[in-house]
Amino acid sequence: MIRFENVTKRYRGTKRPALSGVDFEVQRGEFVFLVGASGSGKSSCLQLILREESPTSGRVAVLGRDLKSIANRKVPYFRRSIGSVFQDFRLLPSKTVYQNVAFTLQVTGASRGFIQQAVPEALALVGLSGKEKRLPHELSGGEQQRVAIARAIVNRPQIVLADEPTGNLDPGTSVDIMQLLARINAGGTTVVMATHEAAFVDQMQRRVIELRDGEMVRDEVGGGYGDTSNVPRLEPEAVRGAAATAALQTVREVHRETEAAIADPIPAPAEAHQAAAAPASAPAQPTVKPSDDARPATHPITVPAVDLAELGVADRLGLDTGDDEEVGPTS
Ligand code: ADP
Ligand code: MG
Repeated sequence: MIRFENVTKRYRGTKRPALSGVDFEVQRGEFVFLVGASGSGKSSCLQLILREESPTSGRVAVLGRDLKSIANRKVPYFRRSIGSVFQDFRLLPSKTVYQNVAFTLQVTGASRGFIQQAVPEALALVGLSGKEKRLPHELSGGEQQRVAIARAIVNRPQIVLADEPTGNLDPGTSVDIMQLLARINAGGTTVVMATHEAAFVDQMQRRVIELRDGEMVRDEVGGGYGDTSNVPRLEPEAVRGAAATAALQTVREVHRETEAAIADPIPAPAEAHQAAAAPASAPAQPTVKPSDDARPATHPITVPAVDLAELGVADRLGLDTGDDEEVGPTS
């Protein structure tokens, strides 16, 4: 889906290359963190993927095409398959939330009917229904970034690139934005996110590509900076589909909460209630199952209710590619 072959990028008038000998491949449906200190080359990588820059040597291929082979006048069409999100949101300040999201579609000549369906769906997916008429300055930073994400996905791109999307946000809001990107990824969209914030990378346990002074120093599947040895092993193969994948994601997110519940088991009445709902002699529960209350200490990890209707929106939005090798709609 995205392939760097021995890529070196040297900007004019600079001594050291911004990237040297960078070599990696991102598969369809992956979520990849590009990490490294400021100046390590993260943004340069994303600009190469978007063909905003060209490699000095080596090759960049995206969606099966060597970017060198795309004529300049075709570049705007190529970029329609890629949604971009930036640290500074880049919203149009005098346009409403709705207009900001609709604008991309209007420019690309989408039909009015499609726009009227796709914009509200994208806004619902990012949790901004009801704020269509607001102007960017009437929103919080996190909400502004949600608008930018809605705009990035409304055209149903196969790839979303995010360059330090949480760089201007407080930690709590940053986690929300990361979870939103994870949900978009669960619908089948390939996500590449550049960040220098290690804490969030830890929590997500996704592939990490680390750059240092333009060189790739790490490419780790399910990586992270922290000790993740006490996180339970889950079996994503056992459950398929966007909803299931999102639910598994949620399992990871609530892991710490569940640990707290185990340390402090729930009182007997709730257990009795649970027993009534699912007798002790019943067959094993499915691994992923919505639950509206805590479980006894001995029960496997429980999952909070997942808004399947909302995930359905993601599926209709075409966030899945229709080519579900690993993840996709459940039906
Ligand atoms: P990061 O996003 O990790 O901070 P960048 O890709 O922006 O890293 O920058 C990598 C290196 O390339 C830095 O030394 C930076 O100064 C340099 N650089 C980036 N863009 C340009 C440019 N347009 N012209 C000259 N040097 C650049
Ligand atoms: Mg950067």
